[in-house]
Amino acid sequence: MSVSVGRDQAFLDAVRHIADAHAAPNADQVDREARFPAETIEALREERALSAFVPGELGGGEVSFQALASACFELGRRCGASAMVFAMHQIQVVSIVRHLQGADWFEEYLRSLAAEQRLIASATSEVGTGGDMGRSVAAVTPGEDGMCAFEKQAPTVSYGAHADDLFVTLRRGPQAEPSDQVVVLARKDQTELEPTSSWDTLGMRGTCSPGYVVRASIAPGQVLPTPFPKVSAESMVPVSHILWSHLWLGIATDAFERARAFVRAAAKRDPGTPPPVATRLSHLMSELSLLRAEVSSGLAEFLDASGEPGRERLSTMASALRVNNLKIAASEQAPRVCQGAMGVCGIMGYKNDTPFSVGRHLRDTMSAPLMLANERIHQTNASLLLIAKEV
Ligand SMILES: Cc1cc2nc3c(=O)[nH]c(=O)nc-3n(C[C@H](O)[C@H](O)[C@H](O)COP(=O)(O)OP(=O)(O)OC[C@H]3O[C@@H](n4cnc5c(N)ncnc54)[C@H](O)[C@@H]3O)c2cc1C
Repeated sequence: MSVSVGRDQAFLDAVRHIADAHAAPNADQVDREARFPAETIEALREERALSAFVPGELGGGEVSFQALASACFELGRRCGASAMVFAMHQIQVVSIVRHLQGADWFEEYLRSLAAEQRLIASATSEVGTGGDMGRSVAAVTPGEDGMCAFEKQAPTVSYGAHADDLFVTLRRGPQAEPSDQVVVLARKDQTELEPTSSWDTLGMRGTCSPGYVVRASIAPGQVLPTPFPKVSAESMVPVSHILWSHLWLGIATDAFERARAFVRAAAKRDPGTPPPVATRLSHLMSELSLLRAEVSSGLAEFLDASGEPGRERLSTMASALRVNNLKIAASEQAPRVCQGAMGVCGIMGYKNDTPFSVGRHLRDTMSAPLMLANERIHQTNASLLLIAKEV
């Protein structure tokens, strides 16, 4: 896939416009009512942004991965939930594009995704395995009609009720080990979603992510040819951590900007005397810079490794440690910046209806450390550190 600066720029200009014109004005209501950010996703569809990463020969926009990451940042600055919906969809798209191995069903699927701007949700976590994506309970079960069926207890399916298709991890077959996993892509008309819980959360309310029992009947060709462990190591995990960390950076950046606007307004009221909180803002800038540096170096290393023939570096322990650290660092630093912004703005930041409100930012970023529990990632890292030659 070629990288075109002009194509990336046009895509980012359009996303920035959507972030300002659709995501920002609806963000508070989306949060308050825990409703799907329909206006933003519809505007992204109109710009054909849902197929932005799909290769041109399949009808997509063929933008670069770094452009997708920047788009998550831009949307995050205006509405964390919109950015998360966009990021999750793109994680699925990138995983399919990088691992379809020329499979006819998946090429045809990407064509229809581009033509119809289909939105993909995911059911990777599961009741019984928690956030451990490397094990599944539910299995692909061949039926007598040549189709395959599955039933999965999914505790959290973001925008499941609004998606066109579902990306699901499963055991390869009824006799397979929990770690012998595949990914399937089930279309909405093949899938039944039985709600099992609600979504009334502290933050990321607009992602609308209740639990479901997912039942589907799919053709065997809807199983992605690449085994899930490879999809996970080379694409799904690093791409998730990079796109999520970009949108968390976007949320934290907007919180910082609000704190800066607060200090500037205070300075205007009393010209000549820097307000005492100005120093606190400087401390906050240092915290934001740390986050920015971590996020951009994580992206740069992924791009380097992805550009190598065979992408083998992405399957090394050193690479797993690197992307795990990105997730841990960014997910802890983003709420820290938002809390710092609240410290600068005081009650004006704590209130929900001022130009300096950062409550939504803080609540949204508080989901970051538990979206794949950091303790679980630390446990994986601890095992890797015992045996990895290089870190
Ligand atoms: C906003 C949001 C949207 C989401 N959307 C989706 C989606 O669309 N699709 C999807 O499949 N999933 C989604 N998830 C779920 C997510 O992917 C994880 O599965 C989920 O957040 C983990 O749930 P858990 O805390 O019950 O899991 P667990 O990982 O089981 O953790 C439970 C508790 O145990 C602790 N813990 C776990 N392992 C260890 C350990 N080794 N050592 C010490 N403590 C440990 C954790 O810290 C935590 O306190 C979403 C989550 C969020 C927050």
